[in-house]
Amino acid sequence: MNSVTVRVPAKVNVQLSVGPLRDDGYHDLVNVFHAVSIFDEVVAQEAEDVSVQVLGESADQVPVDDGNLAVQAARALAKHAGRAQGVHLVIRKAIPVAGGMAGGSADAAGALVACNELWGLGLPAGDLMKIAGALGSDVPFALLGGTAIGTGRGEQLTEVATGARFHWVFAIADAGLSTAKVYAECDRLREALGEQVAWPQVNDALMEALRNGDARALGAELINDLQPAALMLRRQLARTLESGREHGALGALVSGSGPTCAFLAADEAHARDLAVALTGAGVCRSALTAHGSVPGATII
Ligand code: ATP
Repeated sequence: MNSVTVRVPAKVNVQLSVGPLRDDGYHDLVNVFHAVSIFDEVVAQEAEDVSVQVLGESADQVPVDDGNLAVQAARALAKHAGRAQGVHLVIRKAIPVAGGMAGGSADAAGALVACNELWGLGLPAGDLMKIAGALGSDVPFALLGGTAIGTGRGEQLTEVATGARFHWVFAIADAGLSTAKVYAECDRLREALGEQVAWPQVNDALMEALRNGDARALGAELINDLQPAALMLRRQLARTLESGREHGALGALVSGSGPTCAFLAADEAHARDLAVALTGAGVCRSALTAHGSVPGATII
């Protein structure tokens, strides 16, 4: 049977600046995405209809109907191509579900690349990017990978060259957080505090740290405007972040809408030690080491 396997990475936002709430309910963002070496695999197999199966530890938290973003991606691609196409998708999940690492978006990007190949459509990257943007703000980046600045809702991307490999530890929480709830909490907090919300700007010092491959400087510049909201909704994350800092992390922040916490390490050995320390401190369910940046959705 014909099948295509695609590997697609998780992301961490090294900068996530959230602008004022727009009339359409979205926020303008400056979102610096960084793809890291925690991968889902999406296998596309020939089939009459569109279906999906999810494997892995958190598989039971992922929908296996049209609510699955990979299924939506396959259908959107078939529609774009003007063909009635079927596929059986098998997703091997390693990216934490509802963890703020864009796992669902990664699977959607994986399905686009896999089905484009399986169905022999030969659509260029630009077409896939357009379909990806309509599926969700984080999907285009999962196609692209590397490190990139996202503006608008996060879907307009500019690639950033990084000077070195960065080493990370991700502290995985027991249960996920809803992205929509975290944004709503962010709006509520800002209103309660009477904050004047500035137009989001790219942090130049952070860009320089990325370009220079300077982990120490990058650690000092990590920023996530959603962090206060995530900490309000999940108080124990403050302890997780503190524990990482105590164990020498160069920087610590909530990844995207959380609850995964990201820690920047000096090198691979430091990342391993930090992961052991975080697990030992009992502040997370598990701790994964990873490096970035890595390529986006890739056929293997
Ligand atoms: P983001 O960082 O993009 O906001 P996230 O990483 O916090 O997202 P996801 O893992 O993408 O969260 O999942 C969010 C929700 O989307 C899940 O609770 C799940 O119900 C739904 N979902 C749909 N398709 C998928 C998929 N293929 N993998 C994971 N979750 C999916």
